Amino acid sequence: MGERRSERLRSLGMGKLITRRDFIDGVAAAALAAGPAPVFAGDEAAAAPQDRPGYYPPALAGMRGSHPGSFEAAHALRDGTFLRSGAPPIEPGEHFDLIVVGGGISGLAAAYFYRAKVGAAARILILDNHDDFGGHAKRNEFALAGKIQLINGGTLGIDSPRPYSAVAAGLLSALGIDPAALAVRHSEKGVYPALGLGSGIFFDKETFGADRLVKGKTSSPEFLKQTPLSEAARRHVRRLETEPIDYLPGLSSAEKKARLSRISYRDYLLQLVKVDPSVIPLYQRCTHGEWGVGIDAVSALDVWPFGLPGFQGLKLDPGSAPHMGYTAAGYADGGSYKFHFPDGNASIARLLVRSLIPGAVPGSTVEDVVTARIDYSGLDRTENSTRIRLGSTALSVGVSGPGESIGAAEVVYSRMSRLCTTRAKHCVLACWSIMIPYLCPQLPERQKASLRYLVKVPLVYTNVALRNWLAFQALGVSAIHCPGSYHSSVRLNPVSDIGSYRSPNSPDEPILVRMVRTPCYPGMSERDQHRMGRGELLTTSFAVFEEKIRDQLGRMLSAGGFDPAHDITAITVNRWPHGYAYEYNPLFDPNWQKGEAPHEIGRARFGPIAIANSDAAAAAYTDAAIDQAHRAVEELLGS
Ligand SMILES: Cc1cc2nc3c(=O)[nH]c(=O)nc-3n(C[C@H](O)[C@H](O)[C@H](O)COP(=O)(O)OP(=O)(O)OC[C@H]3O[C@@H](n4cnc5c(N)ncnc54)[C@H](O)[C@@H]3O)c2cc1C
Repeated sequence: MGERRSERLRSLGMGKLITRRDFIDGVAAAALAAGPAPVFAGDEAAAAPQDRPGYYPPALAGMRGSHPGSFEAAHALRDGTFLRSGAPPIEPGEHFDLIVVGGGISGLAAAYFYRAKVGAAARILILDNHDDFGGHAKRNEFALAGKIQLINGGTLGIDSPRPYSAVAAGLLSALGIDPAALAVRHSEKGVYPALGLGSGIFFDKETFGADRLVKGKTSSPEFLKQTPLSEAARRHVRRLETEPIDYLPGLSSAEKKARLSRISYRDYLLQLVKVDPSVIPLYQRCTHGEWGVGIDAVSALDVWPFGLPGFQGLKLDPGSAPHMGYTAAGYADGGSYKFHFPDGNASIARLLVRSLIPGAVPGSTVEDVVTARIDYSGLDRTENSTRIRLGSTALSVGVSGPGESIGAAEVVYSRMSRLCTTRAKHCVLACWSIMIPYLCPQLPERQKASLRYLVKVPLVYTNVALRNWLAFQALGVSAIHCPGSYHSSVRLNPVSDIGSYRSPNSPDEPILVRMVRTPCYPGMSERDQHRMGRGELLTTSFAVFEEKIRDQLGRMLSAGGFDPAHDITAITVNRWPHGYAYEYNPLFDPNWQKGEAPHEIGRARFGPIAIANSDAAAAAYTDAAIDQAHRAVEELLGS
């Protein structure tokens, strides 16, 4: 058994050296987090990593997202295992007008709005626990055959359920981003369709009895004939996908929508459409990308605007209805403009940094930011009024002085195994809501309970570099849904040419592939599934991810000549245990009165401390992160 397994691992290429695999994996990091985390006041002389030559986190591979080293101090604070040495925290003697906790889009936007109001001389410090700024807006950069290829490590698109507000659109515009114009100039060029590549489904033998990749649309008889589904299941899929049957006869559109909002899509399929239960696994994960849970935990009404089958005979009036989730309701009403940079919304974060710290991000246009190489040692310089300090986890934020005094807010943070205390007139917490009760135990109990309610959605964006994409070409696919596999979707990196950046367009060139996993546990409430998934992510080692990736790609693509041991050249696992902001779920959450929802209670200002982040909007989108930053700054400075 042992020998057979090692032979299999060798054939997958597990022993091979790929680009800079992390030495500390998820398990080791979790063990670190579980034990006491001593933090000492100590040697101040060592240069911070971001100031060292060659520091460039976008180029790191291995375990990224919540990478080892980014969360241990926060978890030790949560677990009460955080030890302080007898020595007091270092006081570098710095005073700021504003300290921002969290260097994601919301934190960077808060700094931008504050500076716009107070003036360019406003002294601002942004702290973030990761080794790179941007929060979820992270960039993964690969050097493949001498060429840089880019992909997003987290948030991808300027694409939201609602039109961007005047504030959010105004910020984009000030940064030089005109999403509508950019979409026209740089929209995808149809490279994959021109090569005959389309979508397919991978049926795995553990779920469906046989490994089979089938190209085409679920509704077509030719597609169904090639699947390992039973005859009955094929018939039921075809009926579900194509027949305009009204499964709620006698009800008005509004009554149907009300009914659909109270039943999961899974139960709708089983109880009203009456599909054979063997059909369910084919659809179970269709909702993973949008919600991070399967169809057991998303209402039938919420999946309707996304074009899932079974509604074509119901004749529902277009548009949103009461009891829809934020995402579904917004997209039912049309959504926002759509555009993405090659590195996703990391380009927005880079443009924000360019505007906050002159000289930090070379170039001057929205096009040249894509290929700019940032000098990270420019981010935290004494001579700059705005500074970004990475690898710095805030552990305590308190009200320590009167009114608008310079010492009104006191922030203690850990960095390089040391504790530091810094003071400011104001503080914006642009970090995750769930962390705030640990940071600010002084907050009222009701506010802390509300902040804890907002359990973020865990998910993983795995980016894999391949020597070429000849196997995809041979099989005629560019995007594959994988209803039973470890990663539930696999797709070639969308083509995005902007400025001097060019995506690969020939199948014999290297390429990046995106695989998505959303760990969830069907049958539980959405928030419980997220809690379980988060635990899973933090205890899964990079080696486990790597084996699953190689095994899945090998099984899906070997008929096209793919060899995981030879064709995979690098892997980056962007792990986000605290991913999308929680948006209430009509199946599990009460219908809150205005002002009574947890995010509204949770984001209340507390003296010199205001609260931003997309969590404060209960909406997992860039525009929400920007709007909340603006609100938080307005609360501190008044309009
Ligand atoms: C995988 C993924 C894909 C997404 N795709 C899209 C998309 O396509 N379009 C879209 O609009 N939105 C998308 N989102 C949603 C995304 O969360 C928001 O758009 C937005 O980027 C959130 O920004 P934020 O600043 O509010 O939060 P974050 O980006 O989470 O930033 C908060 C920062 O605070 C830091 N922090 C937390 N605690 C502390 C502490 N104690 N001390 C210091 N720092 C701390 C965090 O580590 C983080 O870096 C996606 C999210 C994920 C995870």
